[in-house]
Amino acid sequence: MGRRYYCDYCDKSFADNPTHRKNHLKGVQHQRNKKAHYDSFRNPEIVLQDELSKRPCKNFLSSGTCNFMDNCKFSHLTDKRRTELEKLVEEKQRAKEQKKRNLEDDEAPDKKLSEWLSKRLKGEVKVNEEEKAPLLPVYEIPPHVAQIPNPPPSILPPPQDVLRGLNFVDWG
Ligand SMILES: [Zn+2]
Ligand SMILES: [Zn+2]
Repeated sequence: MGRRYYCDYCDKSFADNPTHRKNHLKGVQHQRNKKAHYDSFRNPEIVLQDELSKRPCKNFLSSGTCNFMDNCKFSHLTDKRRTELEKLVEEKQRAKEQKKRNLEDDEAPDKKLSEWLSKRLKGEVKVNEEEKAPLLPVYEIPPHVAQIPNPPPSILPPPQDVLRGLNFVDWG
């Protein structure tokens, strides 16, 4: 087996020789994949505006090919690609608005805290019983330890009543 040429844009490989390579690199599908690859790094808004500002390429839209490919001064934007781009722009816009909303929420933590504190003082915030009880550490016995008959006490978690009698001190 001779050398093979692998094309990243097309995720395709073929026996490498100058003719094959030249034909592939000139191929419509390859040019399209290459352009789509680079477009994916560009801002979809700019790509869309750019394409819409050009007149449609009659060659490309009627036959699916155009000798100028990437260098064509007319637009090769298909309806499918246009829909894709519009969707991307919309998603970006939505993400931006969400981020803005999150920021606005973050701006007022003091206000939120004082609101909560005044509620708490008026007894409007309920502290449930579980929250009042001291949090006891939870121990998990690994399955292979649990299988040992009569294990030594040192590998077992301390009994709950012992834990409850301890004073836990917060670190810090
Ligand atoms: Zn290719
Ligand atoms: Zn063209």
